[in-house]
Amino acid sequence: MEDRAIFSNFGPISADFEQNVKRQMFGGTGDCLTACNATTALMIAIRRVVEGERGSRRRFALMPSFTFAAAAQAAMWNRLTPLFCDISPLDWSADRASEQELLEKYHQQIAVVVPYATFGYAIDLEWYEEVQRRYAIPVVIDAAASLGTIADDGSGFGTGFSGAVIYSMHVTKSFSTAEGGLIYSADTGLVRTLRSMSNFGFGESRNATRMGLNGKMSEVSALLANLRLENFGTLMARRSHLVDLYRESLPELSFQPRKAHRQAHQFTSALLPREMAPHRGGIQLEMRRLGVDSANYFSPHVAEQDYFREHAQHTALPVTDDIASRILTLPLYDTMTEDEVREVVAAVKAALTQTDQLISISPEKRRSPGHVSPELPSLRRLP
Ligand SMILES: *Cc1c(COP(=O)(O)O)cnc(C)c1O
Repeated sequence: MEDRAIFSNFGPISADFEQNVKRQMFGGTGDCLTACNATTALMIAIRRVVEGERGSRRRFALMPSFTFAAAAQAAMWNRLTPLFCDISPLDWSADRASEQELLEKYHQQIAVVVPYATFGYAIDLEWYEEVQRRYAIPVVIDAAASLGTIADDGSGFGTGFSGAVIYSMHVTKSFSTAEGGLIYSADTGLVRTLRSMSNFGFGESRNATRMGLNGKMSEVSALLANLRLENFGTLMARRSHLVDLYRESLPELSFQPRKAHRQAHQFTSALLPREMAPHRGGIQLEMRRLGVDSANYFSPHVAEQDYFREHAQHTALPVTDDIASRILTLPLYDTMTEDEVREVVAAVKAALTQTDQLISISPEKRRSPGHVSPELPSLRRLP
């Protein structure tokens, strides 16, 4: 890299990675575009589909609320209002009935649909091709955690999709470098346009021909990405094995069902039993006392966050509220051993037992109604 003195601008390492990942994950079809991160990639991809819609009545970006704030922010950067649908209790991704109800009602006002492939789960992309056809609304897939997920047919998740599919290489994802993103589409023309948009809107020479920004990946990041690709299969198999061990060892908790041939697990997401939901904070405190850190992706869910209470709209979100209130994110990392999983499992069990005793000695807590959605006075719920 130093000898060549090429450090960015789709240099040879980034070009090499784009070819490698296309071959390894997408069966050599379509095209890949490296990006500085997934949020910028989402901004560009959404911008592309709303171009020409300026001044029109299309003002919504339809998406689930059980996700990271990035997709909603990318919509806001495009002057769209996030419109949240509920999720399915089965796979924690956008619920088709909820989504379809909003599509039927507001299709003339929806500029883009941004589904989230929850935690790398292989959502049904055929349905989103159908959405594009039936409602003539473009779809941008937030597949932030899915780079490395393999669908049932053996191809990488996203393969063949005609819209943009956005992946992240942030350090919290399974395919992690530090910061990085990837755009895939079966539509090579779309990828060409997005490449120009991520490079100041330049055409061939330094001549801006459209709206753009700087969304490029550096050569150093591309080097890390290429290295990550080398032993990625083995690492993913290992992560899956550890998640299986969690599942077997913690029948007290419930897990996302398995669908993909291989899900690129970024961490281990589990649900507490309903009666434990009000005690999640205490459970996590006890786990931390035992030396085990945990998190709550995604609680508060996006519609509950201050900025989006003010700027987003949503339909009824009972499943999102319920799942967000019970989610418990357990550690998972490349170098993790089975013994370390057992250590985490022991801490979870101890914290659950303690909470169980707490609930049984104070009957009024037993009668606790479970998670009560926080009052959201400024939240604009659609009729
Ligand atoms: C991590 C994540 C993003 C953002 O990815 P960055 O590369 O950090 O910008 C977007 N959406 C979801 C669902 C994520 O989990």
